[in-house]
Amino acid sequence: QAKQAGRDNFKLFEDSMAKEASELFDFEQNLRQAIQAKKDFVMLYQPKLNAMRQVIGLEALVRLQSATDEYYSPTAFIPVAEESGQIIRLEELILNLVFKQLAIWHAQYRQVPRVSINLSGKHLLSDTFLTFLNECMGAHGIDGDWIEFEVTESVFLSDIDRCISVLRALRALSISIAIDDFGTGYSSLNYLKTLPVDVLKIDRTFVIECANQKEDAKICSTIIELASTLGLTTVAEGVETAAQFEFLQQQGCQAYQGYYFHRPLTTLQVPALFAANGSE
Ligand code: C2E
Ligand code: MG
Ligand code: MG
Ligand code: MG
Repeated sequence: QAKQAGRDNFKLFEDSMAKEASELFDFEQNLRQAIQAKKDFVMLYQPKLNAMRQVIGLEALVRLQSATDEYYSPTAFIPVAEESGQIIRLEELILNLVFKQLAIWHAQYRQVPRVSINLSGKHLLSDTFLTFLNECMGAHGIDGDWIEFEVTESVFLSDIDRCISVLRALRALSISIAIDDFGTGYSSLNYLKTLPVDVLKIDRTFVIECANQKEDAKICSTIIELASTLGLTTVAEGVETAAQFEFLQQQGCQAYQGYYFHRPLTTLQVPALFAANGSE
């Protein structure tokens, strides 16, 4: 009987694996088609605010629109794009979308905040990245100080020499560099000291409990202090409550992002923020 149950379990396991594999295959095919067609991708922009709640930046976040007009989350398809070798083409497409939008905003408004773009480590370290970036910036008339790249700490684990030289090239273009999801990876303090990095983004997992749990509170304040010692600024991601905002303000955090202030906005919603900042 135990044997039979084991067999049944195995069969269940097999079925669900098969389903997952075929779903993944479908998704990969859809993704490939979407990238080839250069459509179905939409960018949303989530504001970053200073302690006075003025908008000082925007983070570009990609969505994939499905046939039924639902959105696929990037947490579903960015890993698939990375695994299946499509991430570079996808991010080239994203850079084009963001730069096109940025050129429009800069033509219409006087003070457009810096826009951050998430970048996969695979892309950052690829042979084609800097060439493509230069061409794309040139084509859209983008200045380096209009943009920032967000990379995760995992990028420092691979080819560190290449990493340093690419980051230096970005710095030479006046592009800002932020370490995303800081505290969840493996940054060595030595890299932080030597790499041309400008911003640490405190991961949301620490922010969630910072107002009511002393360990996470301490982690947040320690990251803020570390950043200040190294001459970097901090952004808290995923701020959802007034209590979290107040605690982080007291600790001297410079910038805030989260549903407490704004969800990611459509391109049509963003210009109202420029006007509210008195920059029209
Ligand atoms: P991330 O860069 O850490 O972006 C923050 C994520 O947290 C976003 O999810 C944002 O919508 C969400 N978020 C912001 N505030 C709050 C909050 O107060 N509460 C909660 N619960 N969530 C909040 P999203 O847009 O689904 O993006 C997820 C991840 O996908 C991003 O994490 C980033 O790693 C990746 N991603 C998004 N867009 C791109 C892109 O254009 N290129 C690449 N390579 N990755 C991207
Ligand atoms: Mg990010
Ligand atoms: Mg983040
Ligand atoms: Mg995050």
